[in-house]
Amino acid sequence: MESNMIRLIGILLGIVVLVGVVMSGSYLFDTQGRKYIDGVSSLWVTVHGHGRREITDAIFRQAARLDHSTMLGLANVPAVELAEKLVGIAPKGLDKVFYSDNGSTAVEIAVKMSYQYWQNTGSPRKTVICHLENSYHGDTLGSVSIGGIDLFHKVYRKLIFKTHRVAFPDCYRDMRAFEAVDAFEAFLKKEHSRVASLVLEPIVQGAAGMLMWPAGVLKCFEEVCRKYDVFLICDEVATGFGRTGKMFACEHEDVHPDFLCMAKGLSGGVLPLAATLTTRRVYEGFKFPYQDMKAFFHGHTYTGNPIACAAALANLEIFRKDKTLGGVRSRAKYLSRGLKRFWDIAHVGDIRQRGLMVGIELVKDRMSKEPFPWQDGVGVRVCQRARDYGVILRPLGNVIVLMPPLSISKREIDDLLDALERSIQDSIA
Ligand code: PLP
Repeated sequence: MESNMIRLIGILLGIVVLVGVVMSGSYLFDTQGRKYIDGVSSLWVTVHGHGRREITDAIFRQAARLDHSTMLGLANVPAVELAEKLVGIAPKGLDKVFYSDNGSTAVEIAVKMSYQYWQNTGSPRKTVICHLENSYHGDTLGSVSIGGIDLFHKVYRKLIFKTHRVAFPDCYRDMRAFEAVDAFEAFLKKEHSRVASLVLEPIVQGAAGMLMWPAGVLKCFEEVCRKYDVFLICDEVATGFGRTGKMFACEHEDVHPDFLCMAKGLSGGVLPLAATLTTRRVYEGFKFPYQDMKAFFHGHTYTGNPIACAAALANLEIFRKDKTLGGVRSRAKYLSRGLKRFWDIAHVGDIRQRGLMVGIELVKDRMSKEPFPWQDGVGVRVCQRARDYGVILRPLGNVIVLMPPLSISKREIDDLLDALERSIQDSIA
């Protein structure tokens, strides 16, 4: 009787578990059990697919050992181990790690440190933070201050701090990116004694619509910053952890920033965790006797949470074991071949791809690049329709974003592209 009861409970539990599975690999399931390809990696975070066993196991193990302890005045083992690993994979010279818990804070920390460094070290006039037009660095007020997308940022103009916004083109409609770097250099020539740092999204301006830079632009920005002793902050929140085919996008141009900000894919896309990496030079700029009051007074409650750090360690181990970066490059090629047929759709104005980051811009007229009026909600319509075909997408205006998990299979890529093609055809008559 008792064993029957146990069996019954087991069966019931089994059913509950089955119904309770709402993710697996590239898929998400809704409450009715319908299956969808996660075409945007749950807002650009999922790396090795959903429910990856090694990561969930690491989380369980760590939760049973130490759930949380503050990083203010203490450290914890996973946070220390992860810091070592991050220094190992980051571009050379970035050997100090400061944790936080989302992309906006990772960038704000870099901005604050770049500013305070000059205050601490005898250049108090270097207070100006530069950022690019079309940039997006998050939604908190500090990151909104360095945002360059009027739709998201303009309304807060009176709340935010003053910056220098560097004129920079939308590289689909205007290719004069190198001229923009020249103009920035001319600005620095006159004003560098007032400038603390330049913050940018290397190679791909994601939220602006997956705008991709011509090769060499990033390197030129680095050279100009070096020449005038202005810190370069690379926001790799979106591009980091293999998205573009390298671990970090700045590696494509052998760029060594003074600050590198990471979040999203850091924990494999499973738990909120972020880190700001910087150099020994910057670190030394904060090492003064306590009485000087020059410390970096910034600490979030969940900074360096051990469970999130354990997830991140498991994430990096999978990168090694699965040779994820090589896989991204071959999947990217496959995806690129599949995307070619989208040029046959008259309203596809541009197809931009870097690794497994893709933006397909839908336009009213391909020749003139005239956009669809935003009121038509073309991007939203396409993505809504894609749900009917079993794919979850999220547009940026009229740009359809494809950012599948790095582990997506070729068959899933085919399904994703078939669904998207039909969705576009259904939505734009
Ligand atoms: N920086 C970049 C380049 C991003 O794309 C994002 C988010 O999309 C952020 C910062 C903000 O990250 P979070 O939403 O985790 O604050």
